[in-house]
Amino acid sequence: ENYSVVLAENRKMFNEIQDLKGNIRVYCRIRPFFPGQKEKRTTIEYIGENGELVVANRSKPGKEGHRLFKFNKIFGPDATQAEVFSDVQPLIRSVLDGYNVCIFAYGQTGSGKTYTMTGPNSATKENWGVNYRALNDLFDISQRRRSSIIYEMGVQMVEIYNEQVRDLLSNDGSQKKLGILSHSQPNGLAVPDASMQPVKSTSDVMDLMDMGLRNRAVGATALNERSSRSHSVLTIHVVGRDVKTGAPLLGNLHLVDLAGSERVDRSEVVGDRLREAQHINKSLSALGDVIFALAQKNLHVPYRNSKLTQVLQSSLGISLLVIFF
Ligand code: ADP
Repeated sequence: ENYSVVLAENRKMFNEIQDLKGNIRVYCRIRPFFPGQKEKRTTIEYIGENGELVVANRSKPGKEGHRLFKFNKIFGPDATQAEVFSDVQPLIRSVLDGYNVCIFAYGQTGSGKTYTMTGPNSATKENWGVNYRALNDLFDISQRRRSSIIYEMGVQMVEIYNEQVRDLLSNDGSQKKLGILSHSQPNGLAVPDASMQPVKSTSDVMDLMDMGLRNRAVGATALNERSSRSHSVLTIHVVGRDVKTGAPLLGNLHLVDLAGSERVDRSEVVGDRLREAQHINKSLSALGDVIFALAQKNLHVPYRNSKLTQVLQSSLGISLLVIFF
């Protein structure tokens, strides 16, 4: 009731933000507050039944300090990994039906992206992240369909660091620099020269993901440092063939690990770190512009403004998972 005023005041913005109808879905997950965690400038004031979130800036008391966001759904601090995945699950079937799907987490370092996508370090079955669950489903469903469609799958993994795309799965670990196709191909693969490794199970993909992560760490002082300053895109390329008609079917699942979205002006960095941060800011804002254009159903979608949006071009229309706090 207290917030009906805020909601009414924000009605205009509410309408402008749009429901993000169509193929893009935006979820918000709020991770638990940790004991001893520094209080933030912004606090969550209200969570609505239908995905409304009101946040308040404590340094601006009153109405000006309040902002309303609208998500497809909000997962609170008590939401389980299984609950979060149940909203993603239908998209996995879409990949096997021949669509390109992209799932990623956006947020500052520490906001819970890795927890949601991968799971905690010593994950048990209950707290497996979206990635494991998605892969298990992909292989399970493809097996169940094998009397009508035979599927073959391959994996690519690339890193985007300072607006350069590098191969993370070449057999010699050379991290070759790669070019991106300017127009999306029928197979949906924007980086055709990235190594493609055949896979038959979730553990095959996980092994390759580990190999990719190790390659990503080369030249960096610590894996964590580098990984939060570059984006990585793992693509599971699915080729199906109808047993009776021989008709082909192509789909891709992109699992994206985005660099942290923290603002560079606050971190006061210089030199290499500044250059990295500027590249990250640029690519994340290009991603925001593309998503906004898609949500508005604009005719022109500015994919060309960053390597990240070019790599994901064929799949950004389908899905998005966002983490906010
Ligand atoms: P990021 O990848 O965005 O930098 P992490 O996923 O590493 O953030 O999360 C930061 C910390 O918060 C980790 O210790 C993680 O285990 C914990 N955490 C994040 N989300 C949750 C959650 N929903 N429930 C419990 N712990 C969480």
